[in-house]
Amino acid sequence: MSKGIKMLSAVDAQGVSYTVDELQTRYENAQSIPILFCDDDKCRHAVRFVKWHTQDRKNRVAPVQVPAYIGLSRGSEHVLGCRYDAPGRLKLILAAASDPNFMHALDDGKRELRLLILHQGLQDLTASGNAATPAPPPPGSTAAQRPTGFRATKEQLDSYLRTTTDLLALRAACEDDELLAANLTLKLGKHTIAWHDFLYESGRYDEVWDKLAPDSEYELPLALIGTVRSHKAPPAGATYTTTYLNCESQLNRTDDPNRREYFEVSVSHAEDEWLRQFLVDSQLIMFGLWKRGATSTSRKPHPYDESRVMTYVTHKLRLSPMSKRQLAALR
Ligand SMILES: [Zn+2]
Repeated sequence: MSKGIKMLSAVDAQGVSYTVDELQTRYENAQSIPILFCDDDKCRHAVRFVKWHTQDRKNRVAPVQVPAYIGLSRGSEHVLGCRYDAPGRLKLILAAASDPNFMHALDDGKRELRLLILHQGLQDLTASGNAATPAPPPPGSTAAQRPTGFRATKEQLDSYLRTTTDLLALRAACEDDELLAANLTLKLGKHTIAWHDFLYESGRYDEVWDKLAPDSEYELPLALIGTVRSHKAPPAGATYTTTYLNCESQLNRTDDPNRREYFEVSVSHAEDEWLRQFLVDSQLIMFGLWKRGATSTSRKPHPYDESRVMTYVTHKLRLSPMSKRQLAALR
């Protein structure tokens, strides 16, 4: 059985609609939670309310917060064509992705997604300054020595990126990675990458920061899910033309009560109008070769206890997309 797409509303046996926020309020006020059904007219199969909760993480101080949602009840499935039918959506994405260089069909019916091609394509675009065709790597360089075989054109890369962000958006909408993992293996050369190590939501940005440590030589393109907080255009008279899309930061408690760590996620691009299409408070998938930005530290008295001096450390994660297919709105 596969779990479906997370829902934000459902109906009770009488057809009365409930939003996830209303259900959370009922839970907090110790009111009964009705027996719930899918609110797609075609479907009406059994679903359940999952309250807001936190998930502890191995070796981390701050747990991940999981907002309330509505998911399938045990043994229940959405009908074919229901708007929450995740296997149906996956089929559509896979049907549109036919290039065997990127999406390779295996004998057992599963498919393999070849991340090395994305990685090389994104690197080529970065090196060539977003030229239409990737420049060949200089002779003798590490890239030239790599046994690459196939290299994608800009058009092919755009199409692979679209498939990737579509898959990531579906994964983000689902309760877990069971459906995608059962159908798709992520391959980087010979290595298999777990979906968990490929897509990071807020609460796990610090894990991305650790992965990108200068000595780790980590090169895999990664996807982050963020909530848009602001857009920052260059100020009048600035010598640069880059706009920044900033996401809600992640705040981490640390073992030291006087030290807080923030993880800031932003995307930079020269086209202000494009970034502004992702509205404040909306969620998006951001995929590509992430980089660490500068870390800043400030010290201030605690807002309610002046005897304590707080240290705030801000770590920055940056993405400069070379293709517009690297960002995708969620929902
Ligand atoms: Zn349904």
